[in-house]
Amino acid sequence: MKIKELTFSYQIIENKSKLSKEDLELLEKAEAVREKAYAPYSKFKVGAALRLDNNMVAAKSHYPKGIIQTVCITSSGSHSSQEHPISPCGMCRQVFAEYESIQQQPIRLILASEKGKIFIINRIQDLIPLTFYPSFLE
Ligand SMILES: [Zn+2]
Repeated sequence: MKIKELTFSYQIIENKSKLSKEDLELLEKAEAVREKAYAPYSKFKVGAALRLDNNMVAAKSHYPKGIIQTVCITSSGSHSSQEHPISPCGMCRQVFAEYESIQQQPIRLILASEKGKIFIINRIQDLIPLTFYPSFLE
């Protein structure tokens, strides 16, 4: 019997003032969208923005075709006093992983909340060990 161990590392940024200019721009776009989110009962608001390979930044549900370089997700609500930001659910991770597979380039993920630390993950695949890809069905 063999036992294989998987390791995963990510960057922890103390606050948004320590982000690069490009990442800060993305976070601010995601925050602007988050504030417009409709969440009257849960008060749990989520905003997202992404940067394409042509440096275009989009913060809506529809975006032009291109290679996604970075996705930023920010949230606010009852969890926002926690030490770390929330991370995407399994279904969202799978969708991101499929994009990563189709474009054959990693997607950076920035996770932030209203307060607290920011996490930067260099590729979505790290969030899903033994990732399922549609190519398995071919
Ligand atoms: Zn999700």
